[in-house]
Amino acid sequence: MQYSEIMVRYGELSTKGKNRMRFINKLKSNIKDVLSVYPLLRVTFDRDRGHIFLNGTAYEPVAESLKQIFGIQAFSPVYKVEKDVSLLKKAVQDIMTELYHDGLTFKVSAKRSDHDFELDSRELNQVLGAAVFEVLPTIQVQMKKPDINLKVEIRHEAAYISHENIKGAGGLPVGTAGKGMLMLSGGIDSPVAGYLSLKRGVDIEAVHFASPPYTSPGALKKAQDLTRKLTKFGGNIQFIEVPFTEIQEEIKEKAPEAYLMTITRRFMMRITDAIRAIRGGLVIINGESLGQVASQTLESMQAINAVTKTPVIRPVVTMDKLEIIDVAQKIDTFDISIQPFEDCCTIFAPDRPKTNPKIKNVEQYEARMDIEGLVARAVAGILVTEIKPEEAADEVDELISDLL
Ligand code: ATP
Ligand code: MG
Repeated sequence: MQYSEIMVRYGELSTKGKNRMRFINKLKSNIKDVLSVYPLLRVTFDRDRGHIFLNGTAYEPVAESLKQIFGIQAFSPVYKVEKDVSLLKKAVQDIMTELYHDGLTFKVSAKRSDHDFELDSRELNQVLGAAVFEVLPTIQVQMKKPDINLKVEIRHEAAYISHENIKGAGGLPVGTAGKGMLMLSGGIDSPVAGYLSLKRGVDIEAVHFASPPYTSPGALKKAQDLTRKLTKFGGNIQFIEVPFTEIQEEIKEKAPEAYLMTITRRFMMRITDAIRAIRGGLVIINGESLGQVASQTLESMQAINAVTKTPVIRPVVTMDKLEIIDVAQKIDTFDISIQPFEDCCTIFAPDRPKTNPKIKNVEQYEARMDIEGLVARAVAGILVTEIKPEEAADEVDELISDLL
């Protein structure tokens, strides 16, 4: 038998009284975005649950995608059966025969929202339970925690059978907490910072600083590939490429080695903040983690942060490298992050950046530059593209083998 639909149960959002419909609509549009690679699916949502109608689409890859989308508490694949007692009996027999192994326990939990149906829920439990015994005489019924709880629901249009409850990713639907600008390098930390923000419902836009020809097209593609990996948790993400070459050259010329890093980061922060203001973001998110590198001391953080009053969220700030790598592997960004394409910071990085930059000195060096003009030109030169989820790898393989 083929699953006909997947029933989706909402997570934490069930507790958010008056925002409920807004949360549900957001989750629905995120699911549609993430599953847009499957054109046959139809998605409908109501107050209590969502329905994803498969229309012939294979269940497994869709289920794999659903497991990652924030805001889903759990979901169940469902068989649709005509409202006919003999067809229902046949269906539960088929399903249980397929699942059966020695010692398996089960029960039937029927529910009837169509009260005109010929059997009530108690009668359904008996009749369908008996049907299972007909084909599997040695199977055990167990009311408390059976291995298989066969849920049968008689609705107006049809009957539905499900027996599996798959845990979702939890969290909040992406976008329900407003928008933040993720400063995304090609490194390990910032994609993890992005993932953790998405989990709390923050809609992110990825801001990436590129300094061609010092940085290669490979470095840019790496940042875009990382962004694509993040789309599977809540849908499409705007990718913003910022032209940073002029600023890097200017800093290199006007500031002493030891301060290159601090001043570079301050420019990035100013530009990200300006882009945020234009695009309606509420916060800035970055991948800073304390003490990993000289530039990530508290003194550095203070000097860099001094250029804005906008809240800066640092989701990985207290995690150590191994913890961050763990998450990066889990979300499948690690292998991309370790590709050997240098980003702009590595190329212009001094051997020994200042670990305790003095704001007074920083400001003195920056006074030699046209800060406003440099920032304005960078902001005017941004390139925005929408990054969409990729098709699951096995799907692509199937397509290719179909073509051969
Ligand atoms: P990551 O692994 O994210 O690169 P990191 O530990 O290497 O972090 P740094 O390279 O010092 O740390 O960068 C600190 C943060 O500054 C990054 O996490 C990122 O948020 C931001 N950043 C650095 N370079 C860029 C860039 N080219 N474009 C956008 N953001 C950047
Ligand atoms: Mg880095």
